[in-house]
Amino acid sequence: DPRITRIASSIRVIPDFPKPGILFQDITTLLLDIKAFRDTIDLFVERYKEKGISVVAGVEARGFIFGPPIALAIGAKFIPMRKPHKLPGPVISEEYSLEYGTDVMEMHVGAVEPGEKVLVIDDLIATGGTLCAAIKLLERVGAVVVECACVIELPELKGRDRLGDKPLFVLVSPA
Ligand code: 5GP
Repeated sequence: DPRITRIASSIRVIPDFPKPGILFQDITTLLLDIKAFRDTIDLFVERYKEKGISVVAGVEARGFIFGPPIALAIGAKFIPMRKPHKLPGPVISEEYSLEYGTDVMEMHVGAVEPGEKVLVIDDLIATGGTLCAAIKLLERVGAVVVECACVIELPELKGRDRLGDKPLFVLVSPA
């Protein structure tokens, strides 16, 4: 798909951010390219429309950029999966491991009904820990996670393996 080439080249790579040795994939430059941004949303919408998905769950923070336009276009509701102490209502929490230490993800109780079909969206999968936490939260309340989708996959970190048999769809894998 020729749209993928433009999306890939619109992503800026910043060395040594947020710390030395990290090559950060910066999607804010994708958002500046109106065609690349629209194509990104269209590619996801083409894949997920008419699949019976009633919920798009976006992971803080960049899942909040890509999730809502996809949700509106496929006729689904949007759920924010947030860092701790951000959501005002009753929440359920899931702790997950980072490279150093742990973090917590939270979701509002009652945002999704048991049996609802959910798509989980984030900008990038690295080790897969973040998406795993989102899947666990959703499955704890009986939701059916149909697939996870990201703009970018860093394949050498093998996050896909950590998701087990949960399908992962990505647009771009940098060399
Ligand atoms: P994981 O849990 O898969 O190791 O890390 C993925 C999470 O870290 C995602 O929420 C993603 O936004 C963030 N992340 C890690 N590395 C990068 C990067 O190079 N670029 C961007 N945009 N996000 C990253």
